[in-house]
Amino acid sequence: MPKSQNKSAASENSLSSVVLPRAEHSISRNQIDEHALKVLYRLNRQGHLAYLVGGSVRDLLLGRTPKDFDVGTDATPNQVKSLFKNCFLIGRRFRLAHIRFRGNLLVEVATFRRNPAEDEMPENEDDHFHFVQNVFGSEREDAYRRDFTINALFYNIDDFSVIDHVGGLKDLEERILRMIGDPLIRFEEDPVRMLRALEFSARLDFAIDDEIISAIDQRRHLLSGASSARLREEIMELFRHQVAGQVCEMALRYGLLDQLFAEIPFLPQTFELLKLIDQRTAEGKPIRESLALAGLVLPAFFERCPAERSLHINDALTVADKLLRPHCLHYSIAQGIRCEARDLLLGCFRLARGRGLKGESRFLRHPFTPMIFEFFALWCQIDHSLNDTYALWQGALDSESNPDTGERKSPRRRRRRPRRKAAMQV
Ligand code: ATP
Ligand code: MG
Repeated sequence: MPKSQNKSAASENSLSSVVLPRAEHSISRNQIDEHALKVLYRLNRQGHLAYLVGGSVRDLLLGRTPKDFDVGTDATPNQVKSLFKNCFLIGRRFRLAHIRFRGNLLVEVATFRRNPAEDEMPENEDDHFHFVQNVFGSEREDAYRRDFTINALFYNIDDFSVIDHVGGLKDLEERILRMIGDPLIRFEEDPVRMLRALEFSARLDFAIDDEIISAIDQRRHLLSGASSARLREEIMELFRHQVAGQVCEMALRYGLLDQLFAEIPFLPQTFELLKLIDQRTAEGKPIRESLALAGLVLPAFFERCPAERSLHINDALTVADKLLRPHCLHYSIAQGIRCEARDLLLGCFRLARGRGLKGESRFLRHPFTPMIFEFFALWCQIDHSLNDTYALWQGALDSESNPDTGERKSPRRRRRRPRRKAAMQV
């Protein structure tokens, strides 16, 4: 829900910084990942500023478990590298330090950056976002180059204080998502921020500031021109954070849906299905991109290709391809992922047509069928006319599995014709 605004969004010279001493906030060191703490302490001991930054400070203050703990510092990437044997500098355009630990764990360390001045921008700058990521700055400048006030708080390992340059603490308290600076300009710099605004509002159950809503209204056309790789990643973030259904509804309300999914026809059932997929992820099941894709497309697929016995599976294949291909081309989604999404759609088509058709036993034994059936089960919660069909398949799949251990029987062995001669025998 948009909330009416009582002050204009933070702009760099309008606010004085607030430092909240340890006694006045709830973040305790035992909530912070031990590897991130090690990194913070070592930077600090070497005389550098060492802060926890971004989402982790926001989440800790909200009493939520952070996804990761990012570190901000005034040390340059090369200085960071010289302090840690296990440090790798990554990225050609924006250099980040990754400190790797055993168990595939890593802590990301970024040098403070700033928004470059207008005359510093290269003439033929095609991607402002990446350029901005590259200019080192002070900690205050680093706060101001971030997107939302609640994402720009720092936790200082030196005295355990929380530092707020942008009014984020107040916005956290009021549960409102506010842009740093003028949203019109910030969306021009990076249109992906429009999608992030919806994402954070949904994830945190925060209101969206009116200025953001109005800027989305005026700048929504820019979203379709944003980097497709970054948008693809942010779309998957929606699924990982179990807000895909909710954010797609918001995107429809704010006119962003067509910009994001120009090639996919959304039906009312699409939002319902996405919410069921989100629920499934919330139960701890991993979300694959193929499942997300199939979820976006399944209602339109069934609308164009009703599960009638007279329809051939090749017809279904053509419909599935027509729906998936343009979206996958736009977002450069690999063929393997598209084919897996197509198999999910075709599998649902096969299941919805009912039992007793050719190739059923092979289908039941196929290792991908349980995944298809799980997806189909979600669809049956929306299309209740399939409930009987669902029960029949459930029975068949149960008897295909071993009733004692719950494991699947090993597939029946096909007798192999003896090979005449191996093509390349060494
Ligand atoms: P989470 O990791 O829980 O999804 P987060 O806030 O850490 O949330 P990230 O995408 O990991 O989000 O980004 C880390 C930080 O980088 C953000 O908190 C924000 O300060 C900054 N940031 C990320 N994307 C942008 C952007 N497009 N424009 C400006 N700042 C950004
Ligand atoms: Mg993060």
